[in-house]
Amino acid sequence: MEVSLLQTRKFWGWGYEGVSASPAQLEMAKSGLSALLGGTLVRREPPSLDQVQLEPSSLSSAPSQLEALIDRSPRERLGHAMGKSYRDLARAVRGDFSTAPDAVAFPASEQELVDLLSFASEQRCSVIPYGGGTSVHGGVTPTRGEGPVLSLDLRRMSGVVEVDRESLLARVRAGTLGPELEAQLKPHGLSLRHFPQSFEHSTVGGWIATRAGGHFATGPTHIDDLVASLAVVTPSGSLATRRLPGSGAGPQAERMFIGSEGALGVITEAWLRVFPRPTRRCSATVRFSSMNAGLTALRSIVQAGIAPTNARLLDNLEALLSGAGSGDSCLLLLAFESAGVDFAPLLEAACEIARSHGGLIPAEHVRVQPGGRDDTADSYKSAFFRAPYLRDELALMDVFAETYETAVPWSKVEALDVAVRAALSTLKLGPHALARRITHVYRDGCAPYYTLICRNPADPDAFWLEVKHALTEAILSEGGTATHHHAVGKELASAWAREVPTLFYQALRAAKSVLDPNAIMNPGVLLPRG
Ligand SMILES: Cc1cc2nc3c(=O)[nH]c(=O)nc-3n(C[C@H](O)[C@H](O)[C@H](O)COP(=O)(O)OP(=O)(O)OC[C@H]3O[C@@H](n4cnc5c(N)ncnc54)[C@H](O)[C@@H]3O)c2cc1C
Repeated sequence: MEVSLLQTRKFWGWGYEGVSASPAQLEMAKSGLSALLGGTLVRREPPSLDQVQLEPSSLSSAPSQLEALIDRSPRERLGHAMGKSYRDLARAVRGDFSTAPDAVAFPASEQELVDLLSFASEQRCSVIPYGGGTSVHGGVTPTRGEGPVLSLDLRRMSGVVEVDRESLLARVRAGTLGPELEAQLKPHGLSLRHFPQSFEHSTVGGWIATRAGGHFATGPTHIDDLVASLAVVTPSGSLATRRLPGSGAGPQAERMFIGSEGALGVITEAWLRVFPRPTRRCSATVRFSSMNAGLTALRSIVQAGIAPTNARLLDNLEALLSGAGSGDSCLLLLAFESAGVDFAPLLEAACEIARSHGGLIPAEHVRVQPGGRDDTADSYKSAFFRAPYLRDELALMDVFAETYETAVPWSKVEALDVAVRAALSTLKLGPHALARRITHVYRDGCAPYYTLICRNPADPDAFWLEVKHALTEAILSEGGTATHHHAVGKELASAWAREVPTLFYQALRAAKSVLDPNAIMNPGVLLPRG
């Protein structure tokens, strides 16, 4: 079958065919990076479909009504060969699509999904649920040589199905992309207010399956808090949980599937907690002479019970790279949003705390109404959502650019930073840049986030694994989590196994054997194969 889309997604990189970083952004990145990394940057051409070698599909033909849902074309198989980590990009630009699945299925209904899972069970074929394919830890990457693999693309199971305006709930199908969700909620005056950086190309089902984190710093920014109930199809049958505002009736069924990363079944839809669209905004940008001062101010703000919608702390380099600042100071971007309540007094209280810790707030960097966002916050936001397009271009120029994130209690943030830098100093990075920001804040801790940029060594794949391993060890040794919001996938499965209690891990494996007795669901992701 052929799936027609108004816009065709690139089979090798981020976003749609023909959409890329602007020439001006590229020129700026090129000259900045040449200065930083030395030498000139030469861009290779992106791979083209006809250059890539592909093994024939080893999946047997399905009965005709199911075969009609299955696409074995090179474009779809290559387009589902991997996720969107730097490692994936580096492989793709070199034309290595050896992980391509045998076929891609596009179910449109729950019954079609049930039939596809039953066919896959008979064939002992691995099934990989695929939302937007923006996984960065191997969540959608097939393992070859272990039997046939079917990628199960949910794009035809999309859209807002029902809205309960009074309860502020919306029933949404799993394959709904971020922009599609917001466009369909808008006429109701509603928004999910969940904006991961991958928003444009990731899906509701993917967010739930990976416990995604939106870009707001506090409050209900994790998808976990926004799911009221969900429906799942597993190889052993289907289930749907009840939508309730709260319940004390035993362990929550949803919680077993939120974060299950396709290893237990396919999430088909969810009732999501939505919000009236914000009408008021206010923001301020605070400068600090050091990250330590910024961290103390940020901690004091949240521990005083003030929860800014956005509270992003950028070190000098992050401020420079994102275009939010000139690199001469650290920046704290503070913002509040509401659909009615006036948060200006809370912004003033947060600014007062920031000032008491040495923060400087130029008057032009405070906005209360009408738009409420100052220029610094605006340029940061647009750079944030543009970054993945730029990263494709960097990969074509052999520049390594990857991000690493975790969460730790406040008392461990600085020790973690020392450990991360020490771990990197043992690697052969050559000239490089390491930028840090704090993406999410809690009363008891925060989520530090690092961006590493250097030149690609001869083997970018091995290098990616080496850096990932070194930083994960450093993070775990300082009491951090393997991931705050980028999911576990295959790459962090063994690290995650070390961070959860053994009995819990065994209980989850036992649950998998009930829901997925032939172990066909995303083998190796989250849990070991078999
Ligand atoms: C540039 C970039 C920026 C990112 N920024 C963020 C960010 O700000 N916050 C954040 O949390 N993450 C971020 N990510 C990671 C990624 O976007 C998230 O993990 C996202 O939630 C994945 O959604 P998706 O629809 O693309 O899922 P996919 O990548 O398609 O799948 C991810 C995992 O979920 C499983 N899955 C997908 N759909 C279903 C379903 N319906 N049922 C069961 N399992 C399913 C897959 O099998 C896989 O294991 C970023 C990634 C990139 C490349």
